[in-house]
Amino acid sequence: MSIVQNIKDIEIELENTGAKLIPVSKTKPAELLLEAYNAGHKVFGENYVQELVDKYEQMPKDIEWHMIGHLQSNKVKYIAPFVSLIHSVDSAKLLQEINKQALKNNRIIKCLLQVHIATEDTKSGFDTSEIVAFVTSDVIESLKNVEIIGLMGMSTFTDDKSVVLDEFRELKSIFEMLKAENKNSNAKFVELSMGMSDDWQLAVQEGSTMVRIGSKIFGNRNYTL
Ligand SMILES: *Cc1c(COP(=O)(O)O)cnc(C)c1O
Repeated sequence: MSIVQNIKDIEIELENTGAKLIPVSKTKPAELLLEAYNAGHKVFGENYVQELVDKYEQMPKDIEWHMIGHLQSNKVKYIAPFVSLIHSVDSAKLLQEINKQALKNNRIIKCLLQVHIATEDTKSGFDTSEIVAFVTSDVIESLKNVEIIGLMGMSTFTDDKSVVLDEFRELKSIFEMLKAENKNSNAKFVELSMGMSDDWQLAVQEGSTMVRIGSKIFGNRNYTL
């Protein structure tokens, strides 16, 4: 199995769909990321703050690092100097902390709001009832060092494609609603991060603009942190 070939295969399928590939390299050693990097791939998604910081320090500085995993407010400070996009903003408190740390670093940090679309409670995100209230409140406008560029969601872990399809459609419809309702000058709804190794084709068909793919590129993960 070749990482570079796996990426190439997915990118061929993504051509003309408007969706971008975010290779998810969590738990994988920097040498494997370098294989992809040396073939020209400069975007990686990571889940764990310590691992993300370690890889950032070890690897070339022109990489775009995306934080896709659950992020605790007290750890934002470690990634604020360099992170390109945080996909997993799941509370007002977290967004406020990102804003504070972005200001300290004299940056504007791009963010996606994570929406809870799955049936599992273990997955985080704003409830669909909360997200519209949050975007139409005056909270976001006051946070000048963040820029919301869209939404992220994770579907339920199931073989039942109809469940996943319903969840993707729900997320896409919330996305369109927010795009229409949004009045924040520092928010726009242009990116929809949905789809992983097992459901990315369905996600793209339903309007995803960013697919986060780990195991289909780097192989199964044999440990979790
Ligand atoms: C691990 C992870 C992925 C990638 O999962 P695969 O099934 O290996 O493609 C995508 N998104 C999030 C939020 C993840 O935690």
